[in-house]
Amino acid sequence: MANVCRSFSRITKIFGNTASVFKQPRRNYWVSGSCIDPSLGLNEEQKQIQSVATDFAKNELQPNMAKWDLEETFPVDVMRNAASLGFGAIYCSDKYGGTGLGRTDASIIFEALSQGCVSTTAYISIHNMCAWMIDEFGNDDLRSKWIPELATMNAFSSYCLTEPNHGSDAANLTLSAKRDGDYYYLNGSKMFISGGGDTDVYVVMCRTGEKGPKGISCLLVEKGSPGLDFGKKEKKVGWNSQPTRAVIFEDCKVPVSNLIGEEGDGFKIAMRGLNGGRINIASCSLGAAQACVELCRDYLKVRKQFGKSLENFQYLQFHLAEMATKLVVSRNMVRQAAKALEEDWPEKVALCSMAKYFATDECFNICNQAIQIHGGYGYLKDYAVQQYMRDCRVHQILEGTNEVMRLLVSRDLLTDDERKYS
Ligand SMILES: Cc1cc2nc3c(=O)[nH]c(=O)nc-3n(C[C@H](O)[C@H](O)[C@H](O)COP(=O)(O)OP(=O)(O)OC[C@H]3O[C@@H](n4cnc5c(N)ncnc54)[C@H](O)[C@@H]3O)c2cc1C
Repeated sequence: MANVCRSFSRITKIFGNTASVFKQPRRNYWVSGSCIDPSLGLNEEQKQIQSVATDFAKNELQPNMAKWDLEETFPVDVMRNAASLGFGAIYCSDKYGGTGLGRTDASIIFEALSQGCVSTTAYISIHNMCAWMIDEFGNDDLRSKWIPELATMNAFSSYCLTEPNHGSDAANLTLSAKRDGDYYYLNGSKMFISGGGDTDVYVVMCRTGEKGPKGISCLLVEKGSPGLDFGKKEKKVGWNSQPTRAVIFEDCKVPVSNLIGEEGDGFKIAMRGLNGGRINIASCSLGAAQACVELCRDYLKVRKQFGKSLENFQYLQFHLAEMATKLVVSRNMVRQAAKALEEDWPEKVALCSMAKYFATDECFNICNQAIQIHGGYGYLKDYAVQQYMRDCRVHQILEGTNEVMRLLVSRDLLTDDERKYS
């Protein structure tokens, strides 16, 4: 919290308004006083945090989002500026430099930031997830070495679970880590790794034991480790301000002291990270949907057809109302899931899964509908709605597909109480 509070004076010093190279109409931020105002129901401290994040999004992210998308820029310096506001390790404890905020605070921050650039914010959210996994499960040596680096974004991190042949079926991953003395030797590869190749710290789930989830361990692998390599940068529909690459391990030598948690804890650690990750990704979708509803509201007021502005057509009014309603329902679900995680409710996994699939599906639909409301202009890259839609699409796929989220929800409903929460 201290970082965020300190940031008020800093934010004005650090950032000026960077002119966009694009002619994208500037969005009137905030529909304050309206039913979709994201500050509704927040306490004063949360409103302050939100206001810092919103200012950052407005001044530092939004003017660049189209350019970063087109040029595929990973905006390292801007992310470091975000870290200086406390956004690099938001829900890590403050012992080694984390910001010490809660999951709801993090959700509020990611929602606000993603209005300025979904792709960059989504990467920041993954980085935060990795930092938390190290802070929560790492030994003191790992924490004291890496949390200060990650909190300042001096070092960037990547989460490595998915493999070419094991996506949804992550519990059967095959990347092997064989111990020899004080080192593990890793062989195999990870697929679709966000930040891969450009980041410094890889939180890698690997097999050290038996088949299934209990044979998986979690290792911190530093860039530059012997035997660590990367695939080509993938060409993607969205999320273009962050690189995605395969990560390749060939007899990659990693000290045993880089083990996060105990041998065999890796799958549990990966899933614990993802509970929060799912709230974060859903929050990024909320920000995109918020921006799209606001852009539609503005567009309906200025675009004229049949001699009057579009806001006069009831069909479009109803669409706007439905988009706003779905946005607010999604936000309420995400904030409830964040509270469940923060307070360690037994139902947290199902609530995080439910919120993730509902919010990312509904918010994608809102962004897609926003293109329709903009007509042909919505399909042009001069207008931001298409980028929000492209950037949001992958949220339905990653951090557990939305089909897998439904599996987790149904498992919660259909499994006996004793087994479920043991
Ligand atoms: C841009 C991008 C960034 C990513 N970043 C990361 C990252 O940083 N780290 C990381 O570890 N991973 C990352 N991923 C990987 C992502 O998490 C996986 O793509 C995702 O988990 C799905 O795995 P898959 O692609 O192998 O699909 P598959 O598992 O092959 O699934 C294919 C389809 O089958 C469905 N399906 C699979 N099993 C079932 C089932 N039992 N019941 C019903 N339907 C099922 C899926 O829902 C999906 O629709 C990223 C992916 C992308 C595209």
